[in-house]
Amino acid sequence: MSSEFGKHLTDSGAGLVNPLTWIPCRALNVLEQPSQLLPYRGCALVPTMGALHQGHLSLVSEAKRLGVPVVVSIFVNPTQFGDARDFARYPRTLDADLALLNTVGVDAVFTPSVKTMYLNGLDDAHRDAARLILPRVATQPQLEDAFRDGHFAGVCQVVARLFDIASPAAAIFGEKDFQQLRVIEAMVEGESARWGALRILRGETIRECDGLAMSSRNRFLSLEERERSLGIIRALREAAPSHSHEEAERTMRRVVESHGLLCEYAVVRDALTLERPNANLPCRALITARIGSVRLIDNCSIALVS
Ligand code: AMP
Repeated sequence: MSSEFGKHLTDSGAGLVNPLTWIPCRALNVLEQPSQLLPYRGCALVPTMGALHQGHLSLVSEAKRLGVPVVVSIFVNPTQFGDARDFARYPRTLDADLALLNTVGVDAVFTPSVKTMYLNGLDDAHRDAARLILPRVATQPQLEDAFRDGHFAGVCQVVARLFDIASPAAAIFGEKDFQQLRVIEAMVEGESARWGALRILRGETIRECDGLAMSSRNRFLSLEERERSLGIIRALREAAPSHSHEEAERTMRRVVESHGLLCEYAVVRDALTLERPNANLPCRALITARIGSVRLIDNCSIALVS
């Protein structure tokens, strides 16, 4: 692993080594087997699918504040992808990911294979996922659950497996994927005996300078699409001073569509249940839109002006 990784970083096209980008990876503890995680029981776990960016690194920073070992997992989970082509083209950049993690320093990186995660094979794994009983927030809101059939079953399956393997004291998830975050929180609340005192922590959404939420999929945007993708953050910002959730939803949809994006949903929901909002309780504005082959997702809290 280390020699291949080092070679990659020194292959700068002209064969020159830039000493500033040379990062030895020996210090990074890359683990592939569940048994190797035993010494890290009680860690802070940061589950990812790799193709890391500053959003992921901000979760690592939060994890490091807890004062326990920090473990980052990198696993592109096949059971949460409805579309096999989407799974196949998901960016896989392990060398660059390890280099990035080396710059911030983590105690271990867990990079299991599909076989390690799903001992009985993928067919069984898909069947098991479909049988899971999911929390209400994974099935009722008609948000990601409506547009990505089976997605949260796969997410719950893989996250539960990671928790079982790593026995973390805390795990950190980004608010960027707000419904996913709520699903994990609800799953852990519903299984209090299984993972002990496991705490789920929230990491705020990290954005590019112009407001686009960082995402592993942003690299697929053409320059022109990248410009139009700003319709999402503009929609969230323009809806902020709304007096009702209906007004906010109309504004968000108008702004998203005016950028030529295909709006899947632009809604205001109760921040806990993600069902119909109650003006007296915290609310969340959530948008998902497609641009070309890329699906953009974002959200923020919203306080309706009465
Ligand atoms: P992913 O690798 O996309 O599955 O994401 C792994 C974790 O990083 C999830 O908890 C995401 O919510 C979180 N994440 C992704 N993008 C961001 C971002 N821009 N800011 C903060 N967290 C993020």
